[in-house]
Amino acid sequence: MHAATCSARLGPSVSLTNLGCKRGLPHHRGGSARLLPRQGRIKGRNTKCSMSRGGDDAEVDVAVIGGGPGGLAAAFALIAKGLTVRVYERSKAVQQVGALLSLFPNGLEALHKIDPTTYEAVLGKAEPPSSSVRMDPRGTLLGPPGPHPFSAMEGKYGHPFVNIIWYELTDVLRSRLPPGTVHLGHRCVGFEDAGAHVAVEFENQATVKARMVIGADGVRSVVRSMLLSDGPPTYTGIMSWRGVFDSDADILTPSRQASVTSGTDKGGPDKLFLAVDIQARKTAWVAFVLQAEDPSETPKLSDGAAHLDRVRSLFSDWEAPLLHRVLDATDSARVLPLGIFERSPADTWSGGRVTLVGDAAHAMQPWLGQGTNSTFEDVHTLAELLAAAGGPKVLGDRSAVVSVLKEYESRRIPRTKTLQSWSQSTVLRPLDQPPPPRATQFMRSAEEDDWMYTYDHAVLTSLA
Ligand SMILES: Cc1cc2nc3c(=O)[nH]c(=O)nc-3n(C[C@H](O)[C@H](O)[C@H](O)COP(=O)(O)OP(=O)(O)OC[C@H]3O[C@@H](n4cnc5c(N)ncnc54)[C@H](O)[C@@H]3O)c2cc1C
Repeated sequence: MHAATCSARLGPSVSLTNLGCKRGLPHHRGGSARLLPRQGRIKGRNTKCSMSRGGDDAEVDVAVIGGGPGGLAAAFALIAKGLTVRVYERSKAVQQVGALLSLFPNGLEALHKIDPTTYEAVLGKAEPPSSSVRMDPRGTLLGPPGPHPFSAMEGKYGHPFVNIIWYELTDVLRSRLPPGTVHLGHRCVGFEDAGAHVAVEFENQATVKARMVIGADGVRSVVRSMLLSDGPPTYTGIMSWRGVFDSDADILTPSRQASVTSGTDKGGPDKLFLAVDIQARKTAWVAFVLQAEDPSETPKLSDGAAHLDRVRSLFSDWEAPLLHRVLDATDSARVLPLGIFERSPADTWSGGRVTLVGDAAHAMQPWLGQGTNSTFEDVHTLAELLAAAGGPKVLGDRSAVVSVLKEYESRRIPRTKTLQSWSQSTVLRPLDQPPPPRATQFMRSAEEDDWMYTYDHAVLTSLA
């Protein structure tokens, strides 16, 4: 049992000294613990209740671990409620690599509630695709170009469906935070719940004392592994590559979005290629392929040319000219390879003063496009519950923080469990394997769609 869960279960009156741990004990920085695999090193540090005395020893209301869409939106939402927040991101620099994201009315509603002007700034970088086209691997259209199936969403749900580049979304969020909020080059390697605060430790030897910690550190969350000890995420057998390039022409003309897909009446598709134009400035694409080997270590970004060659070879027998036009226009330095991993739904996301948002809490397969959208809902719910409980003042009372986090879980876990389960109805399968019943996202009922695309504002009611 590690220190974080010890103190979370026993309460603040049980000090770490009572548990046989002394503050200020020299830990194994640079010693044998460094030689252990990362997971072992984290566990080792926590079972020893080690605590760094070095670093900048900053003190904040909330330390957010991870500077993706979830972490940045969390900072936004909590600063707006009067809390002091720092975001700690392991990357040393912001990378403009390829990743296409779709934002749906429910996620945009949550973002609008967090901050209407940021919502407008995000929409300013996004495009609601007006038309789309589908084709087979030979480039034969599977129907005439037509309106995008999600074009009517704005009329129905009050917010549009839009496509945006992942790094343009995070750039907008980051640029609107107060200077000094985001700290790059800070990889979290451990934390210790000391009752009145949580001490977070980073690989670069910095430390921070926070009255709440939010793990927004993605599908391989270090914070989650220390909180829940539920092992690594599961590889789905699907590999993806995403790319982006600057385009001064609408490369997909006459449509704004194009998908190329294998698959027959008998089975499949086993590969899928999707490209979208964004505001005639950029084109972004994603390729999904069945791949049995588990890419458990994310391939190095620096191998961009090899990644692009791999995509080319996987699609070499596909004749659709559009696909090759898009790949030829892509700068290999901006290709992002990513195995698709998921997690089983968890019954809890919190312990003491520490909780999770986004992929760290509920990583799901990408078919619903709900990962970031549900993350914005998490963040808005958490911020509203904290504000309703007294804002910064509540952080002085550990049991009140625990109650808020329980309430947060009870409002978020049931919804995200359903989204996680729907997202498992994968759209990729071998060409000889016919789809199971209810196989794709397009087979949900209208009521289920309404439920998914509507963010419930019940969070604004008072705490139970
Ligand atoms: C192919 C694909 C397509 C997708 N399409 C969509 C879509 O259309 N719509 C949608 O809503 N979602 C989509 N998603 C999901 C979406 O990308 C994620 O749900 C979303 O990025 C989650 O945001 P997050 O902030 O929780 O995590 P992440 O975006 O993973 O960010 C986590 C951050 O934490 C940092 N970090 C990790 N470990 C540490 C550490 N120890 N210390 C400090 N920092 C750390 C990482 O560097 C990263 O910046 C897609 C995913 C994939 C793979």
